[in-house]
Amino acid sequence: MEFSSKLLENAVDEMSQLPGIGKRTALRLVMHLLKQPLDKTARLSSALLTLKEEIKFCSNCHNISDQEICEICSNPKRDPGTVCVVEDIRDVMAIENTGQYRGLYHVLGGKISPVEGIGPQDLTIASLIAKAKEGKIKEMIFALSSTMEGDTTNFYIYKQLEGIDIKTSTIARGIAVGDELEYADEVTLGRSILNRIPFEGSLKLS
Ligand SMILES: [Zn+2]
Repeated sequence: MEFSSKLLENAVDEMSQLPGIGKRTALRLVMHLLKQPLDKTARLSSALLTLKEEIKFCSNCHNISDQEICEICSNPKRDPGTVCVVEDIRDVMAIENTGQYRGLYHVLGGKISPVEGIGPQDLTIASLIAKAKEGKIKEMIFALSSTMEGDTTNFYIYKQLEGIDIKTSTIARGIAVGDELEYADEVTLGRSILNRIPFEGSLKLS
């Protein structure tokens, strides 16, 4: 792509670093911003900067939060004995949207993936196991997408829980293999959580 302006080229380069945004889309977005009044673009940049500078992660569940402890963890109506293990905050949002779940979450921040060089130490698995050892968790629900990485991660955590008195379950698979949780419709996802099955049972099936 040839640019008549270095400023334009820089903006397009930066924009095209975003996932799913190729150079052509980046150019379209930049052209759109150019046509907007300055204060609109200023609001966008300031929202992004403030997000990066001020965002916190809940010290209990690692969900994105405006406070030290997120609204879900600090809600006395939620059951702290049930913890749903998810990959990222999009899954928390998807499950919350079902309105079917009253426990807490634990956000791993990804899945174990040797191909991408992501190991257990890159995720928040240690703090999850620590919570389990403290006896705070009665049931752990694995709700990772059922890809090979998801299954590997579930199994790794499951092995770490050996010797700890805890019930483990996995969400029922109304969700097709390889589907990401966030795309499952709310009714299906809600049902999968309610009809969860013991994790050991899911191992024998596969
Ligand atoms: Zn939290």
